Amino acid sequence: MARVLLQHVTKRYPGAGRPAVEELSLDIADHEFLVIVGPSGCGKTTTLRLIAGLETPSAGTLTIGERIVNDLPPADRDVAMVFQHYALYPHMSVYRNMAFGLHLRRKHLRLTHAQVRERVVAAARALELEAFLQRRPDSLSGGQRQRVALGRAIVRQPQVFLFDEPLSQLDANLRVATRTEIKRLQLDLRTTTVYVTHDQEEAMVLGDRIAVMKEGRIQQCAPPLEVYQRPVNRFVAGFLGTPAMNFLAGRVEGQGFVLAGGAGRLPISGALVRTAARYGGTELVLGIRPEAIGIVPEGESDSGALDAKISLVEPRGDRVDVTFTLLKGEHGAGGPQMICRSDSQAFGKWRAQGIIRVRMDLGRVHLFESGETGVNITLTRESSHAAA
Ligand code: ATP
Repeated sequence: MARVLLQHVTKRYPGAGRPAVEELSLDIADHEFLVIVGPSGCGKTTTLRLIAGLETPSAGTLTIGERIVNDLPPADRDVAMVFQHYALYPHMSVYRNMAFGLHLRRKHLRLTHAQVRERVVAAARALELEAFLQRRPDSLSGGQRQRVALGRAIVRQPQVFLFDEPLSQLDANLRVATRTEIKRLQLDLRTTTVYVTHDQEEAMVLGDRIAVMKEGRIQQCAPPLEVYQRPVNRFVAGFLGTPAMNFLAGRVEGQGFVLAGGAGRLPISGALVRTAARYGGTELVLGIRPEAIGIVPEGESDSGALDAKISLVEPRGDRVDVTFTLLKGEHGAGGPQMICRSDSQAFGKWRAQGIIRVRMDLGRVHLFESGETGVNITLTRESSHAAA
């Protein structure tokens, strides 16, 4: 097991425009489970392949444990990679599939046949594959095959596990079950793990920390809830969370946030008004997550509540997602569309076209500079307070 350190790593593919990975620095602690998440083409797989040694960095330094590995071939890096396509040998039994790599390197690793068998049986037990050891892969389900691929990585007892979207071929239920399995295994084995996915839920559930990437660069790397609750910029805020955070353009005027296009005015906290003051009325983006907006129960008075018209009600089981349009006046024209999440116990009361009143949790409002990766100025306020 080992620490994995990337320092200012850049990867430029020949003939490509911008680098696939640019000035990437990551310090992955020994035993840590780090998930790299981001949209298609952001450089996740390239990062993993650089660690594995399947790509050579154009610049920067890669260290695994105590060794700089920039020039070490994959076989000498002591890492095991599990891919989305598990590529098992169809003519070999599960046992032989799992033992194959070890047998090839048995002498180099100074293992006896009995020790190879011990490792395979132990891994099969951990993965509940003991009953299948003599079967061929084509008689296994997709989930079982992926577990064999995991087993093949585990028996090598590598310093680092590298996972490249290992669950994307599985159906939804199996994906959830297998990801729990991977988490449990990693907690048992404590092998440093780097896991790539485009699935934000998988990232949140699995990672000790998650690194959110966009266009070859890391936008934020922190524990899952910190990234969710304190996104450093608008891209990160919008990437994590389903339904996504509501974003509304406008500017802070007086004690409120005046929506662009004359679509109304939202209350914001005094602290945010003070933070925004240094932006001198320039356009900003207000962000609020669906769960930070509540529907005011009928008959309850709330002076800060806003009138809204429901456009869509989506029951999700434990909750209901309600899409609505803010109303400017009593029966005014529609403002921007937003979405809130509510407890499904109240479902039944709300219908499309119905009028509701919504209230925003002002402590959970974010303000971003404009632009796709506009900085979260709410956090700059916190850090400047912390520094003061
Ligand atoms: P996905 O989720 O779709 O797998 P990703 O985030 O893993 O995407 P990468 O596969 O790392 O992204 O690709 C990053 C960028 O590098 C993309 O623009 C891709 O087109 C480019 N790229 C990847 N491999 C090569 C290659 N061998 N030659 C040239 N360009 C490449």
